[in-house]
Amino acid sequence: MNTLAALFRTVGAPLSIETIALDAPKPTELTVRVAAVGLCRTDLHVMRGERRVAMSPMVLGHEAAGVVESVGPAVQGIAPGDHVVLTFIPGCGVCRWCAKGLHHLCAEGPRITQGPQLDGTCRRKDAHGKDVGAFCMIGGFAERTVVDQASAIVVDKDIPLDLAALVACGVPAGVGAARHRAKVKAGDSVLVVGCGGDGMNVVQGARLCGATTIIAADINPDKLDLARDFGATHCVDSRGDVLTRDVLHLTEGIGVNHAFVCIDPATTLLPAFRATQKAGNVVVTAITPDTVKSIDVPPLELFATQKAIMGAVYGFMSPRLQIPELLRLYRSGDLKLRELITKTYSLSDINQGYEDLEAGKNLRGVVTFD
Ligand SMILES: [Zn+2]
Ligand SMILES: [Zn+2]
Repeated sequence: MNTLAALFRTVGAPLSIETIALDAPKPTELTVRVAAVGLCRTDLHVMRGERRVAMSPMVLGHEAAGVVESVGPAVQGIAPGDHVVLTFIPGCGVCRWCAKGLHHLCAEGPRITQGPQLDGTCRRKDAHGKDVGAFCMIGGFAERTVVDQASAIVVDKDIPLDLAALVACGVPAGVGAARHRAKVKAGDSVLVVGCGGDGMNVVQGARLCGATTIIAADINPDKLDLARDFGATHCVDSRGDVLTRDVLHLTEGIGVNHAFVCIDPATTLLPAFRATQKAGNVVVTAITPDTVKSIDVPPLELFATQKAIMGAVYGFMSPRLQIPELLRLYRSGDLKLRELITKTYSLSDINQGYEDLEAGKNLRGVVTFD
C-alpha cells in the first residue's frame, strides 16, 4: 500500500513530503493508521545533524498513537481496531533488561537510530525503489506505519488519540524523571531547567510527588508563565551564573534537592549542578548533540558535595507500565495533557510546526490526521 510520509533526506533540509510504498506487516508486526504524532525536539536534532542516524531517507516521528488496521499471525494481545501508543524504545521482551521489567533499558534500544525494523529489514520504499528507514522503529510522520508488536501498547479507546500520543515520549520522559529517577518526595525542592515538552512534564511530575518548591527556569517568559499553570512555584532565568545565584537565593543558600536538565546539557548542567544542595540529584533528560563529547564538572566538587548526576530515558520506567499509569492519572484529573498542545498541524505543514518549535512558540505541536 502507499502512504504519505515526511522523510528526512539531508541534514539541514526541511522534511520531504512524499508518497512511499509500505509493505504488509511481517508475522510479529502490525499496520497502524496514525491518528496523531507529536513534534518532539529529538527529531529536530536529527534534521540538524546533531543526532546522527544510520540511513536516509528515513521517516522521522516517534511520539505517535493510532488505530491498528491489521496484524501479523504471530502478534499476541493486539487486534485490528485497537488503539495503540507506539514506544520509541521497543521492548523485545527477552533481553536481560526486559526480563526484569526494565523495557526502557531494552538491549535493542541502541538500534533505534539505524532505520530498519526490529528484524533488520525495511518495510518502506521511496518512489525510486530505495529502502526507507523508520526512526525509532516507528516512522510516525506518516499516514500509516508498520511496527513490531514490541513497539506498541494497547490503550483504552476513551482516551483521545491526540492526547494518547503525548504519553509516547514527552510526558513519561518528564513525569517519570521526577517520580521514578529522582524519586521526588513530599516537601522536596526542585529545579527544572528548560520548560519545553520534557521540562513542563517534570514540573507537573514534581507537583504530583508533592514537591513544595518547584523552580521553573527558561529563557522564554511565555514558557515560564505556562509553567505556573503546571505547578511551578517560582520562575527564574535559565542562563548560567544568574540561574545558580537565583536558585540559591530561593533556597536559603543551600540549593534544591533535585535539579532536572531538560535543555542543552552542554550549557545548563554545571549551573544546575551548582544550584543543587549537597547529596542532591541532578537528572539529565535532554539530548546533547553528538558533536559535544564531554561536559565539565569539576571532579573534586562532585566528590566533596556528594551529589548524584544521573540520566533518565523514558522517565526511567518501562513504558509498558508507565503509559497506562499516566493515562489513569489523566482520567482522574491529576495530569494535564490537553494543556500541553499549543497547535495542531497537517502532515503537509510539518515543517512549519518545526519552525514554530525552533521559534519557541510551541510547548507541543501535534500533527493530526483526519
Ligand atoms: Zn521525543
Ligand atoms: Zn529487551
